[in-house]
Amino acid sequence: MSADSSAVMEQAPPPWWRRFHAALMPDYNRKASILWWTLVLIGAVAFVVSALQAATLSGSALLQLAGGTLLAMAMALVPLRIPRTNQSFTLGDVFIVLVLLMHGTPAGCVAAGLEGLVSSWRSSKRWTTRLGSATIATISMFVCGQLLQAAFVQLPFKGAEHAAELVLLTMAFGLMYSSCNAVLMSAVARAKRSEGLRMADLASVFGWVGAASAGASAVAGMLFITQRLAGFSLMLAILPLIGLLLATQHYYSCQQVAEEAARRAAARTLEREAELAISLARQREAEQATQHLRDLEKSENRFQSAFTHASIGMALVSRSGHIYQANPALRTLLGCDSVELEGRRFADHVADGDALRLATTLASVAAGDSVAMPIEFHCRQLDGTEVWSSISCSLFSKAPGEGPSLILQIQDVTARHRAELELHHRAFHDKLTGLANRERFNDVLSQTIQLDRRAGDDAFAVMFLDFDRFKLINDSKGHSVGDEFLVQASQRLLRCLRKGDLLARLGGDEFAILASGLRSNDDAEELAERLLSSLREPLRLSSMDITATASIGITFSSIGYTRPEDMLRDADIAMYRAKAEGKARFALFDVCQHAEVANRVRLEHDLRQALAKRATTIAYQPLYDLNSGGLIGFEALSRWTHPELGPISPGSFIPIAEESGLITELTEFVILESCRQLRQWVIEHPGSSQLCIHVNVAARDLADVNFVSRVKGALLASGLAPRQLVVELTENILMAKLTAAMSTLSTLRELGVGLSVDDFGTGYSSLSHLAVLPIDSLKIDMSFVRNLRPGSNEAAVIRAIVLLAGSLGKHVIAEGIETQAQLSQLRELGCGFGQGYFLSRPLLAASVDKLLCAPSALPQTPGTGSETTVALGNPRLSLVH
Ligand code: C2E
Ligand code: MG
Ligand code: MG
Repeated sequence: MSADSSAVMEQAPPPWWRRFHAALMPDYNRKASILWWTLVLIGAVAFVVSALQAATLSGSALLQLAGGTLLAMAMALVPLRIPRTNQSFTLGDVFIVLVLLMHGTPAGCVAAGLEGLVSSWRSSKRWTTRLGSATIATISMFVCGQLLQAAFVQLPFKGAEHAAELVLLTMAFGLMYSSCNAVLMSAVARAKRSEGLRMADLASVFGWVGAASAGASAVAGMLFITQRLAGFSLMLAILPLIGLLLATQHYYSCQQVAEEAARRAAARTLEREAELAISLARQREAEQATQHLRDLEKSENRFQSAFTHASIGMALVSRSGHIYQANPALRTLLGCDSVELEGRRFADHVADGDALRLATTLASVAAGDSVAMPIEFHCRQLDGTEVWSSISCSLFSKAPGEGPSLILQIQDVTARHRAELELHHRAFHDKLTGLANRERFNDVLSQTIQLDRRAGDDAFAVMFLDFDRFKLINDSKGHSVGDEFLVQASQRLLRCLRKGDLLARLGGDEFAILASGLRSNDDAEELAERLLSSLREPLRLSSMDITATASIGITFSSIGYTRPEDMLRDADIAMYRAKAEGKARFALFDVCQHAEVANRVRLEHDLRQALAKRATTIAYQPLYDLNSGGLIGFEALSRWTHPELGPISPGSFIPIAEESGLITELTEFVILESCRQLRQWVIEHPGSSQLCIHVNVAARDLADVNFVSRVKGALLASGLAPRQLVVELTENILMAKLTAAMSTLSTLRELGVGLSVDDFGTGYSSLSHLAVLPIDSLKIDMSFVRNLRPGSNEAAVIRAIVLLAGSLGKHVIAEGIETQAQLSQLRELGCGFGQGYFLSRPLLAASVDKLLCAPSALPQTPGTGSETTVALGNPRLSLVH
């Protein structure tokens, strides 16, 4: 057989009866169909047979059968609903059972079949159901009726005394009849669903249905007894009553149905509203979810865009540090532009020393201990180059693949780091020599002191080194040569150090050495010797050889220092001793110097405060023309009364002011104040207009570039003529700073300010210098005056000075004239001017006022010794220059 022919066969239409059956009974399977047809055929046969038998009944019996059957059919049209169930029953059973009892099973079958047909006609539109119900009712009646009649044979009705048994029997019949009906109906329904019968199908009979059926049968039984006992008339009389009851019941049932329908409708409305609300809520939820998804998508897109285009490196990594995703910036940072990073371990790109630190950080962030902690570490590029990077790490919930991951943000901070290192280096190193600076030295020294206090093993020493002639090199050869000198000299010093020693430049030509790990003080002394001898060889600077010795002060940790600055200060003090002892040597710090130093430090502090509060004052010592006895001016001398220590002599506080730099401030004050004061006297005492004021200045003042402008400012502020101001410089300062001072002195001279050499005779002024210096007067040191005797050396020296000065056109002023004899001899030696206690002690400004008012001549008797003593001087004037 060919495939085509088989296809044709397969497509052949089913027989007509099958198609007819399928159209009429589409939900009946084969088994259900067989069962249905069987029941229908049996039921039809039973009905026909019963009808034929019933037809043989008498005329009145047929009438009763017809009446009972019609009533039963009528009852089927008004079913009684069982409250709160969807089951209902008809009271047609009453008449069916009554017919059965009165006229036998065939009559019962006819009545049951027709009532079943009407009842199912009312409740169903399917002909299978209508037909099935009617025939099943007939079969049930046929079977149960036979059984009831068999029972009647056993228990024939013998009168009122058997009424109860009859009623019970009919009740049993009713139950059986309805059970049989139910079982057969269920059998067909189950067969349609290809299911077997269940006990539940029978159990439903023992509910309302069974009760109704039993009740109807009982009523029928009672009607039957009534008819037997009292005849038809009573039964007919009862029938309207039953009809009324039925009508009431029906009405009530209809009401119930209507109420229930209303309830259901209300419930359905509520249900629909609830459903609507739920659907609206669901719709809203769905919209929200959609919006949320859209937002998430947008956020995801934004994140992806930010991730990809970020200028800093970013990576998503697993908790174990494997890279899920890396952005282009990170690939560039790690030098992996052409290499995939995904899947690699991030730690592979981190310098070995930092890997553990990074792993700890990732673990702690992953554990939720910390968030976004920025740490810095070295990243290693593919070619091995290390990059300083800053990494921020935080939890990132959206991990592709496994659980939550971390997001890393990595920034190349190499440039910043280098700048920081550079700044750090600058902060702690000297720019010129590259050595440690003062801060670093103090730091290291501080740590060394701390360590020593804790462990106390090794002794150490601090050396303070200062070059002896550096200023000269700087001034004479220029700053660039000076710088070169410092660089080369520091290299030499470095070569002398032992391992662990630290050399620092503190500033200018001052260096400090921290010599640690000393076995004894000798080690430090040996080192100092090495340093000094290394400097004995000349240094080659700008094609010239320069030798510069240094002085070193040494102090030792055994003294028990707690502060680095104390140790450095003591080394400095020792260095000054080395200088004082002849330079180019080292000196050890003597503990006995300590108290003196402490006192000095305190005085410096207090003097600073005194200057700030303008607490220093000025005493004015008169200067006289020794020949005429006239007052020619005053020397302004600083005075400082310490709040606790009382008056401090200038011999004590002036050196402190010079060393600490406070002298500039002090000098400025003295110049300003004395100029103002003299101007005031000139105004108040017109005869004083030619007086002059001598002011002492220090070496630092001459080095101060603002000195000349300060002098000008004081003159301008006071209105004093420049020639009335005389600047005193000690011979030593003048000679030491000769070259540097020359231009300042010349400028002052050009201004008209007078210049005087103080303490003349104590220094080693070369006479040739005196000739060229722009000076006006020499003040002979008081040591010559003190020992002045006729024919003494001092007298010879003073005579020579007077002659020399005369030949150079300069005046001579004698200091420290304490006696009449000294005064007289000085006059004899030709000394033109003088000052001294014999003439007047230094005076307070108020006392000078009185002096200027008093028209007295040069005193012939010594002063009383008090600064407040008024000297009786004749203010006849003569010029100092
Ligand atoms: P100087 O400039 O040589 O001043 C003269 C010193 O001799 C003053 O001492 C004065 O009081 C003292 N004197 C005057 N007549 C006699 C006398 O007959 N016998 C004795 N034994 N001494 C006499 P003073 O005021 O103690 O000043 C000492 C030094 O301090 C001054 O010596 C001067 O070099 C310095 N000095 C004082 N005031 C200042 C100042 O404001 N600035 C600077 N740079 N130095 C000052
Ligand atoms: Mg002086
Ligand atoms: Mg003097």
